[in-house]
Amino acid sequence: MAADFAANYQVNSRYGALVLPSAGIVPEIAIGAVPDDQRVWVPQAPDVWFRPLLLNTVTGGWCNLLRVRRSGVLHRHRHPMAVIGYVIKGRWRYLEHDWIAEEGSFVYEPPGEIHTLVVPDDCAEMITFFNIGGAMIYLDESGRQTGYEDVFTKIEMCRAHYAAAGLGGAFADQFIR
Ligand code: FE
Repeated sequence: MAADFAANYQVNSRYGALVLPSAGIVPEIAIGAVPDDQRVWVPQAPDVWFRPLLLNTVTGGWCNLLRVRRSGVLHRHRHPMAVIGYVIKGRWRYLEHDWIAEEGSFVYEPPGEIHTLVVPDDCAEMITFFNIGGAMIYLDESGRQTGYEDVFTKIEMCRAHYAAAGLGGAFADQFIR
């Protein structure tokens, strides 16, 4: 014990032992990700919803859960920045790829990736955590832009939905940093 302390003390004194919390740091978020209250899911498209977890206005990006039921389609889109995903429930695939993301799968989507998310017929519902950088640019089959989303349009969607759903528009603010 004494030897551990002495070794630790030497390491700490080499770099300076005093580490103080930063003034102005934004509050942490620690919440149950899959909500009990169904109103927390924000409608995105027919049979597609997202549940905001972090709406990051500083780096420009967001973390959310995506929920897609059998007939739902997340329309063809391009990511200018990286996306990281983890499948919590169910399974899904991209029309542009031949792999299937299963429950427990990790997915990395490189910047520049264009894809269309669908759920296979044998799956009633999928839920996946996504960390999305930058924006989503929606495209038609010829590659023309049909829509655009970034953290600010996501915030607007959340506020409008929560106001209409009776939670109040400010319910969205707890996820904004
Ligand atoms: Fe995507």
